[in-house]
Amino acid sequence: GDGGNVKVVVRVRKFIRRELEKQSPCLIEMKPHSNETVIHPPPLAPDEAKNSRSKQYEQRSFTFDKSFWSHDEADAHYAQQHDVYASFGEEFLDHNFDGYHTCIFAYGQTGSGKSYTMMGTPDQPGLIPRTCRGLFERVEAEQNSSITYNVHVSFFEIYNEHVKDLLTPRTNPPTYLKIREHKSDGVYVQGLTDEPVKCYEDIERLMKTGDMNRTTASTKMNDTSSRSHAVFTLTLKQIQHDIATDSTIERLARMRLVDLAGSERANRTEATGQRLREGGNINQSLTTLGRVIAALADPRRQRASRLTAPQNQSKRRAEVVPYRDSVLTWLLKDSLGGNSKTAMVACISPTDYDETLSTLRYADQAKRIRTKAHINQDAVS
Ligand code: ADP
Ligand code: MG
Repeated sequence: GDGGNVKVVVRVRKFIRRELEKQSPCLIEMKPHSNETVIHPPPLAPDEAKNSRSKQYEQRSFTFDKSFWSHDEADAHYAQQHDVYASFGEEFLDHNFDGYHTCIFAYGQTGSGKSYTMMGTPDQPGLIPRTCRGLFERVEAEQNSSITYNVHVSFFEIYNEHVKDLLTPRTNPPTYLKIREHKSDGVYVQGLTDEPVKCYEDIERLMKTGDMNRTTASTKMNDTSSRSHAVFTLTLKQIQHDIATDSTIERLARMRLVDLAGSERANRTEATGQRLREGGNINQSLTTLGRVIAALADPRRQRASRLTAPQNQSKRRAEVVPYRDSVLTWLLKDSLGGNSKTAMVACISPTDYDETLSTLRYADQAKRIRTKAHINQDAVS
């Protein structure tokens, strides 16, 4: 296996209208050559006495694999959509062609730029459309070789611990899919559409369908896209036939691109029991994700699993890491702590000290997670 840490990058967006109207200052600084991200305390309000300030407003500094400055376009270090893709999206696609599973997930509060980074806009496409385009560019460049490519797309959302297929029309009442676990194939969504695609335009059509099917009835605070997790999955199968030896090799790689629910949900439910009761189990996947990351990042746990005999190791892991406590973590078990090369994009607002610090801490913890990716290859004849 190929052991590696979860790659963690952070991206700060520009001001949105609300912040411009309030003339909120930018609290984030990124040092272009050290990948350091610094969060500064918000300036004192005029009526705020200096000594009444609570201690939590401190300047804090974090270092990630990459810090993307997408705050101000005039800056020489401004990171566009293309820069984000070029910095690790492309590399992850290389891993897929080598036969590794990958996962990229966007974390951050509502309005921090998760969907912009993952899906983007028609003019400014994000990681998902760029990855799909890159995939077919490579497939088309290999047309004359002895390799056959099969590409499939699935797209589902987890809302309120229910899985909904985003590639089938909405029904009333909604249709929820069951999660199953298969001895050799692992955890999967039963009956999920897995659409074969032949070109980028096929995927583009599916992305549109999926976006349309994401629950849209929403008020400002109860916006479903901020409460649901959207999981876009590409499966790439490469079948290589060697004429000389008359042997066939299959490589299967899965890439998961995940737009998580707004992280403020998890933070607030922790703070007030009231919200938790109001929201039912809406945040269960997100709070469990936090616990899974904490368990995987815990050095004591890592030491313990190294000391445990290999035959007991998987049992011990299953005990310590609460994957099964939520739909999201159960389905993404492999992506989080197993057979996958995984990256997290921590999206932050330039103005919100508490939420941003909480996201940076979360990201800092995720850096310590190690996965064990291996090439998924089989000789079929
Ligand atoms: P989230 O999905 O985290 O709730 P969005 O991706 O919808 O947040 O972003 C909130 C708003 O900010 C949107 O209007 C989006 O277009 C804009 N935005 C986010 N990130 C950027 C960026 N890097 N550059 C320009 N606009 C951005
Ligand atoms: Mg969003």
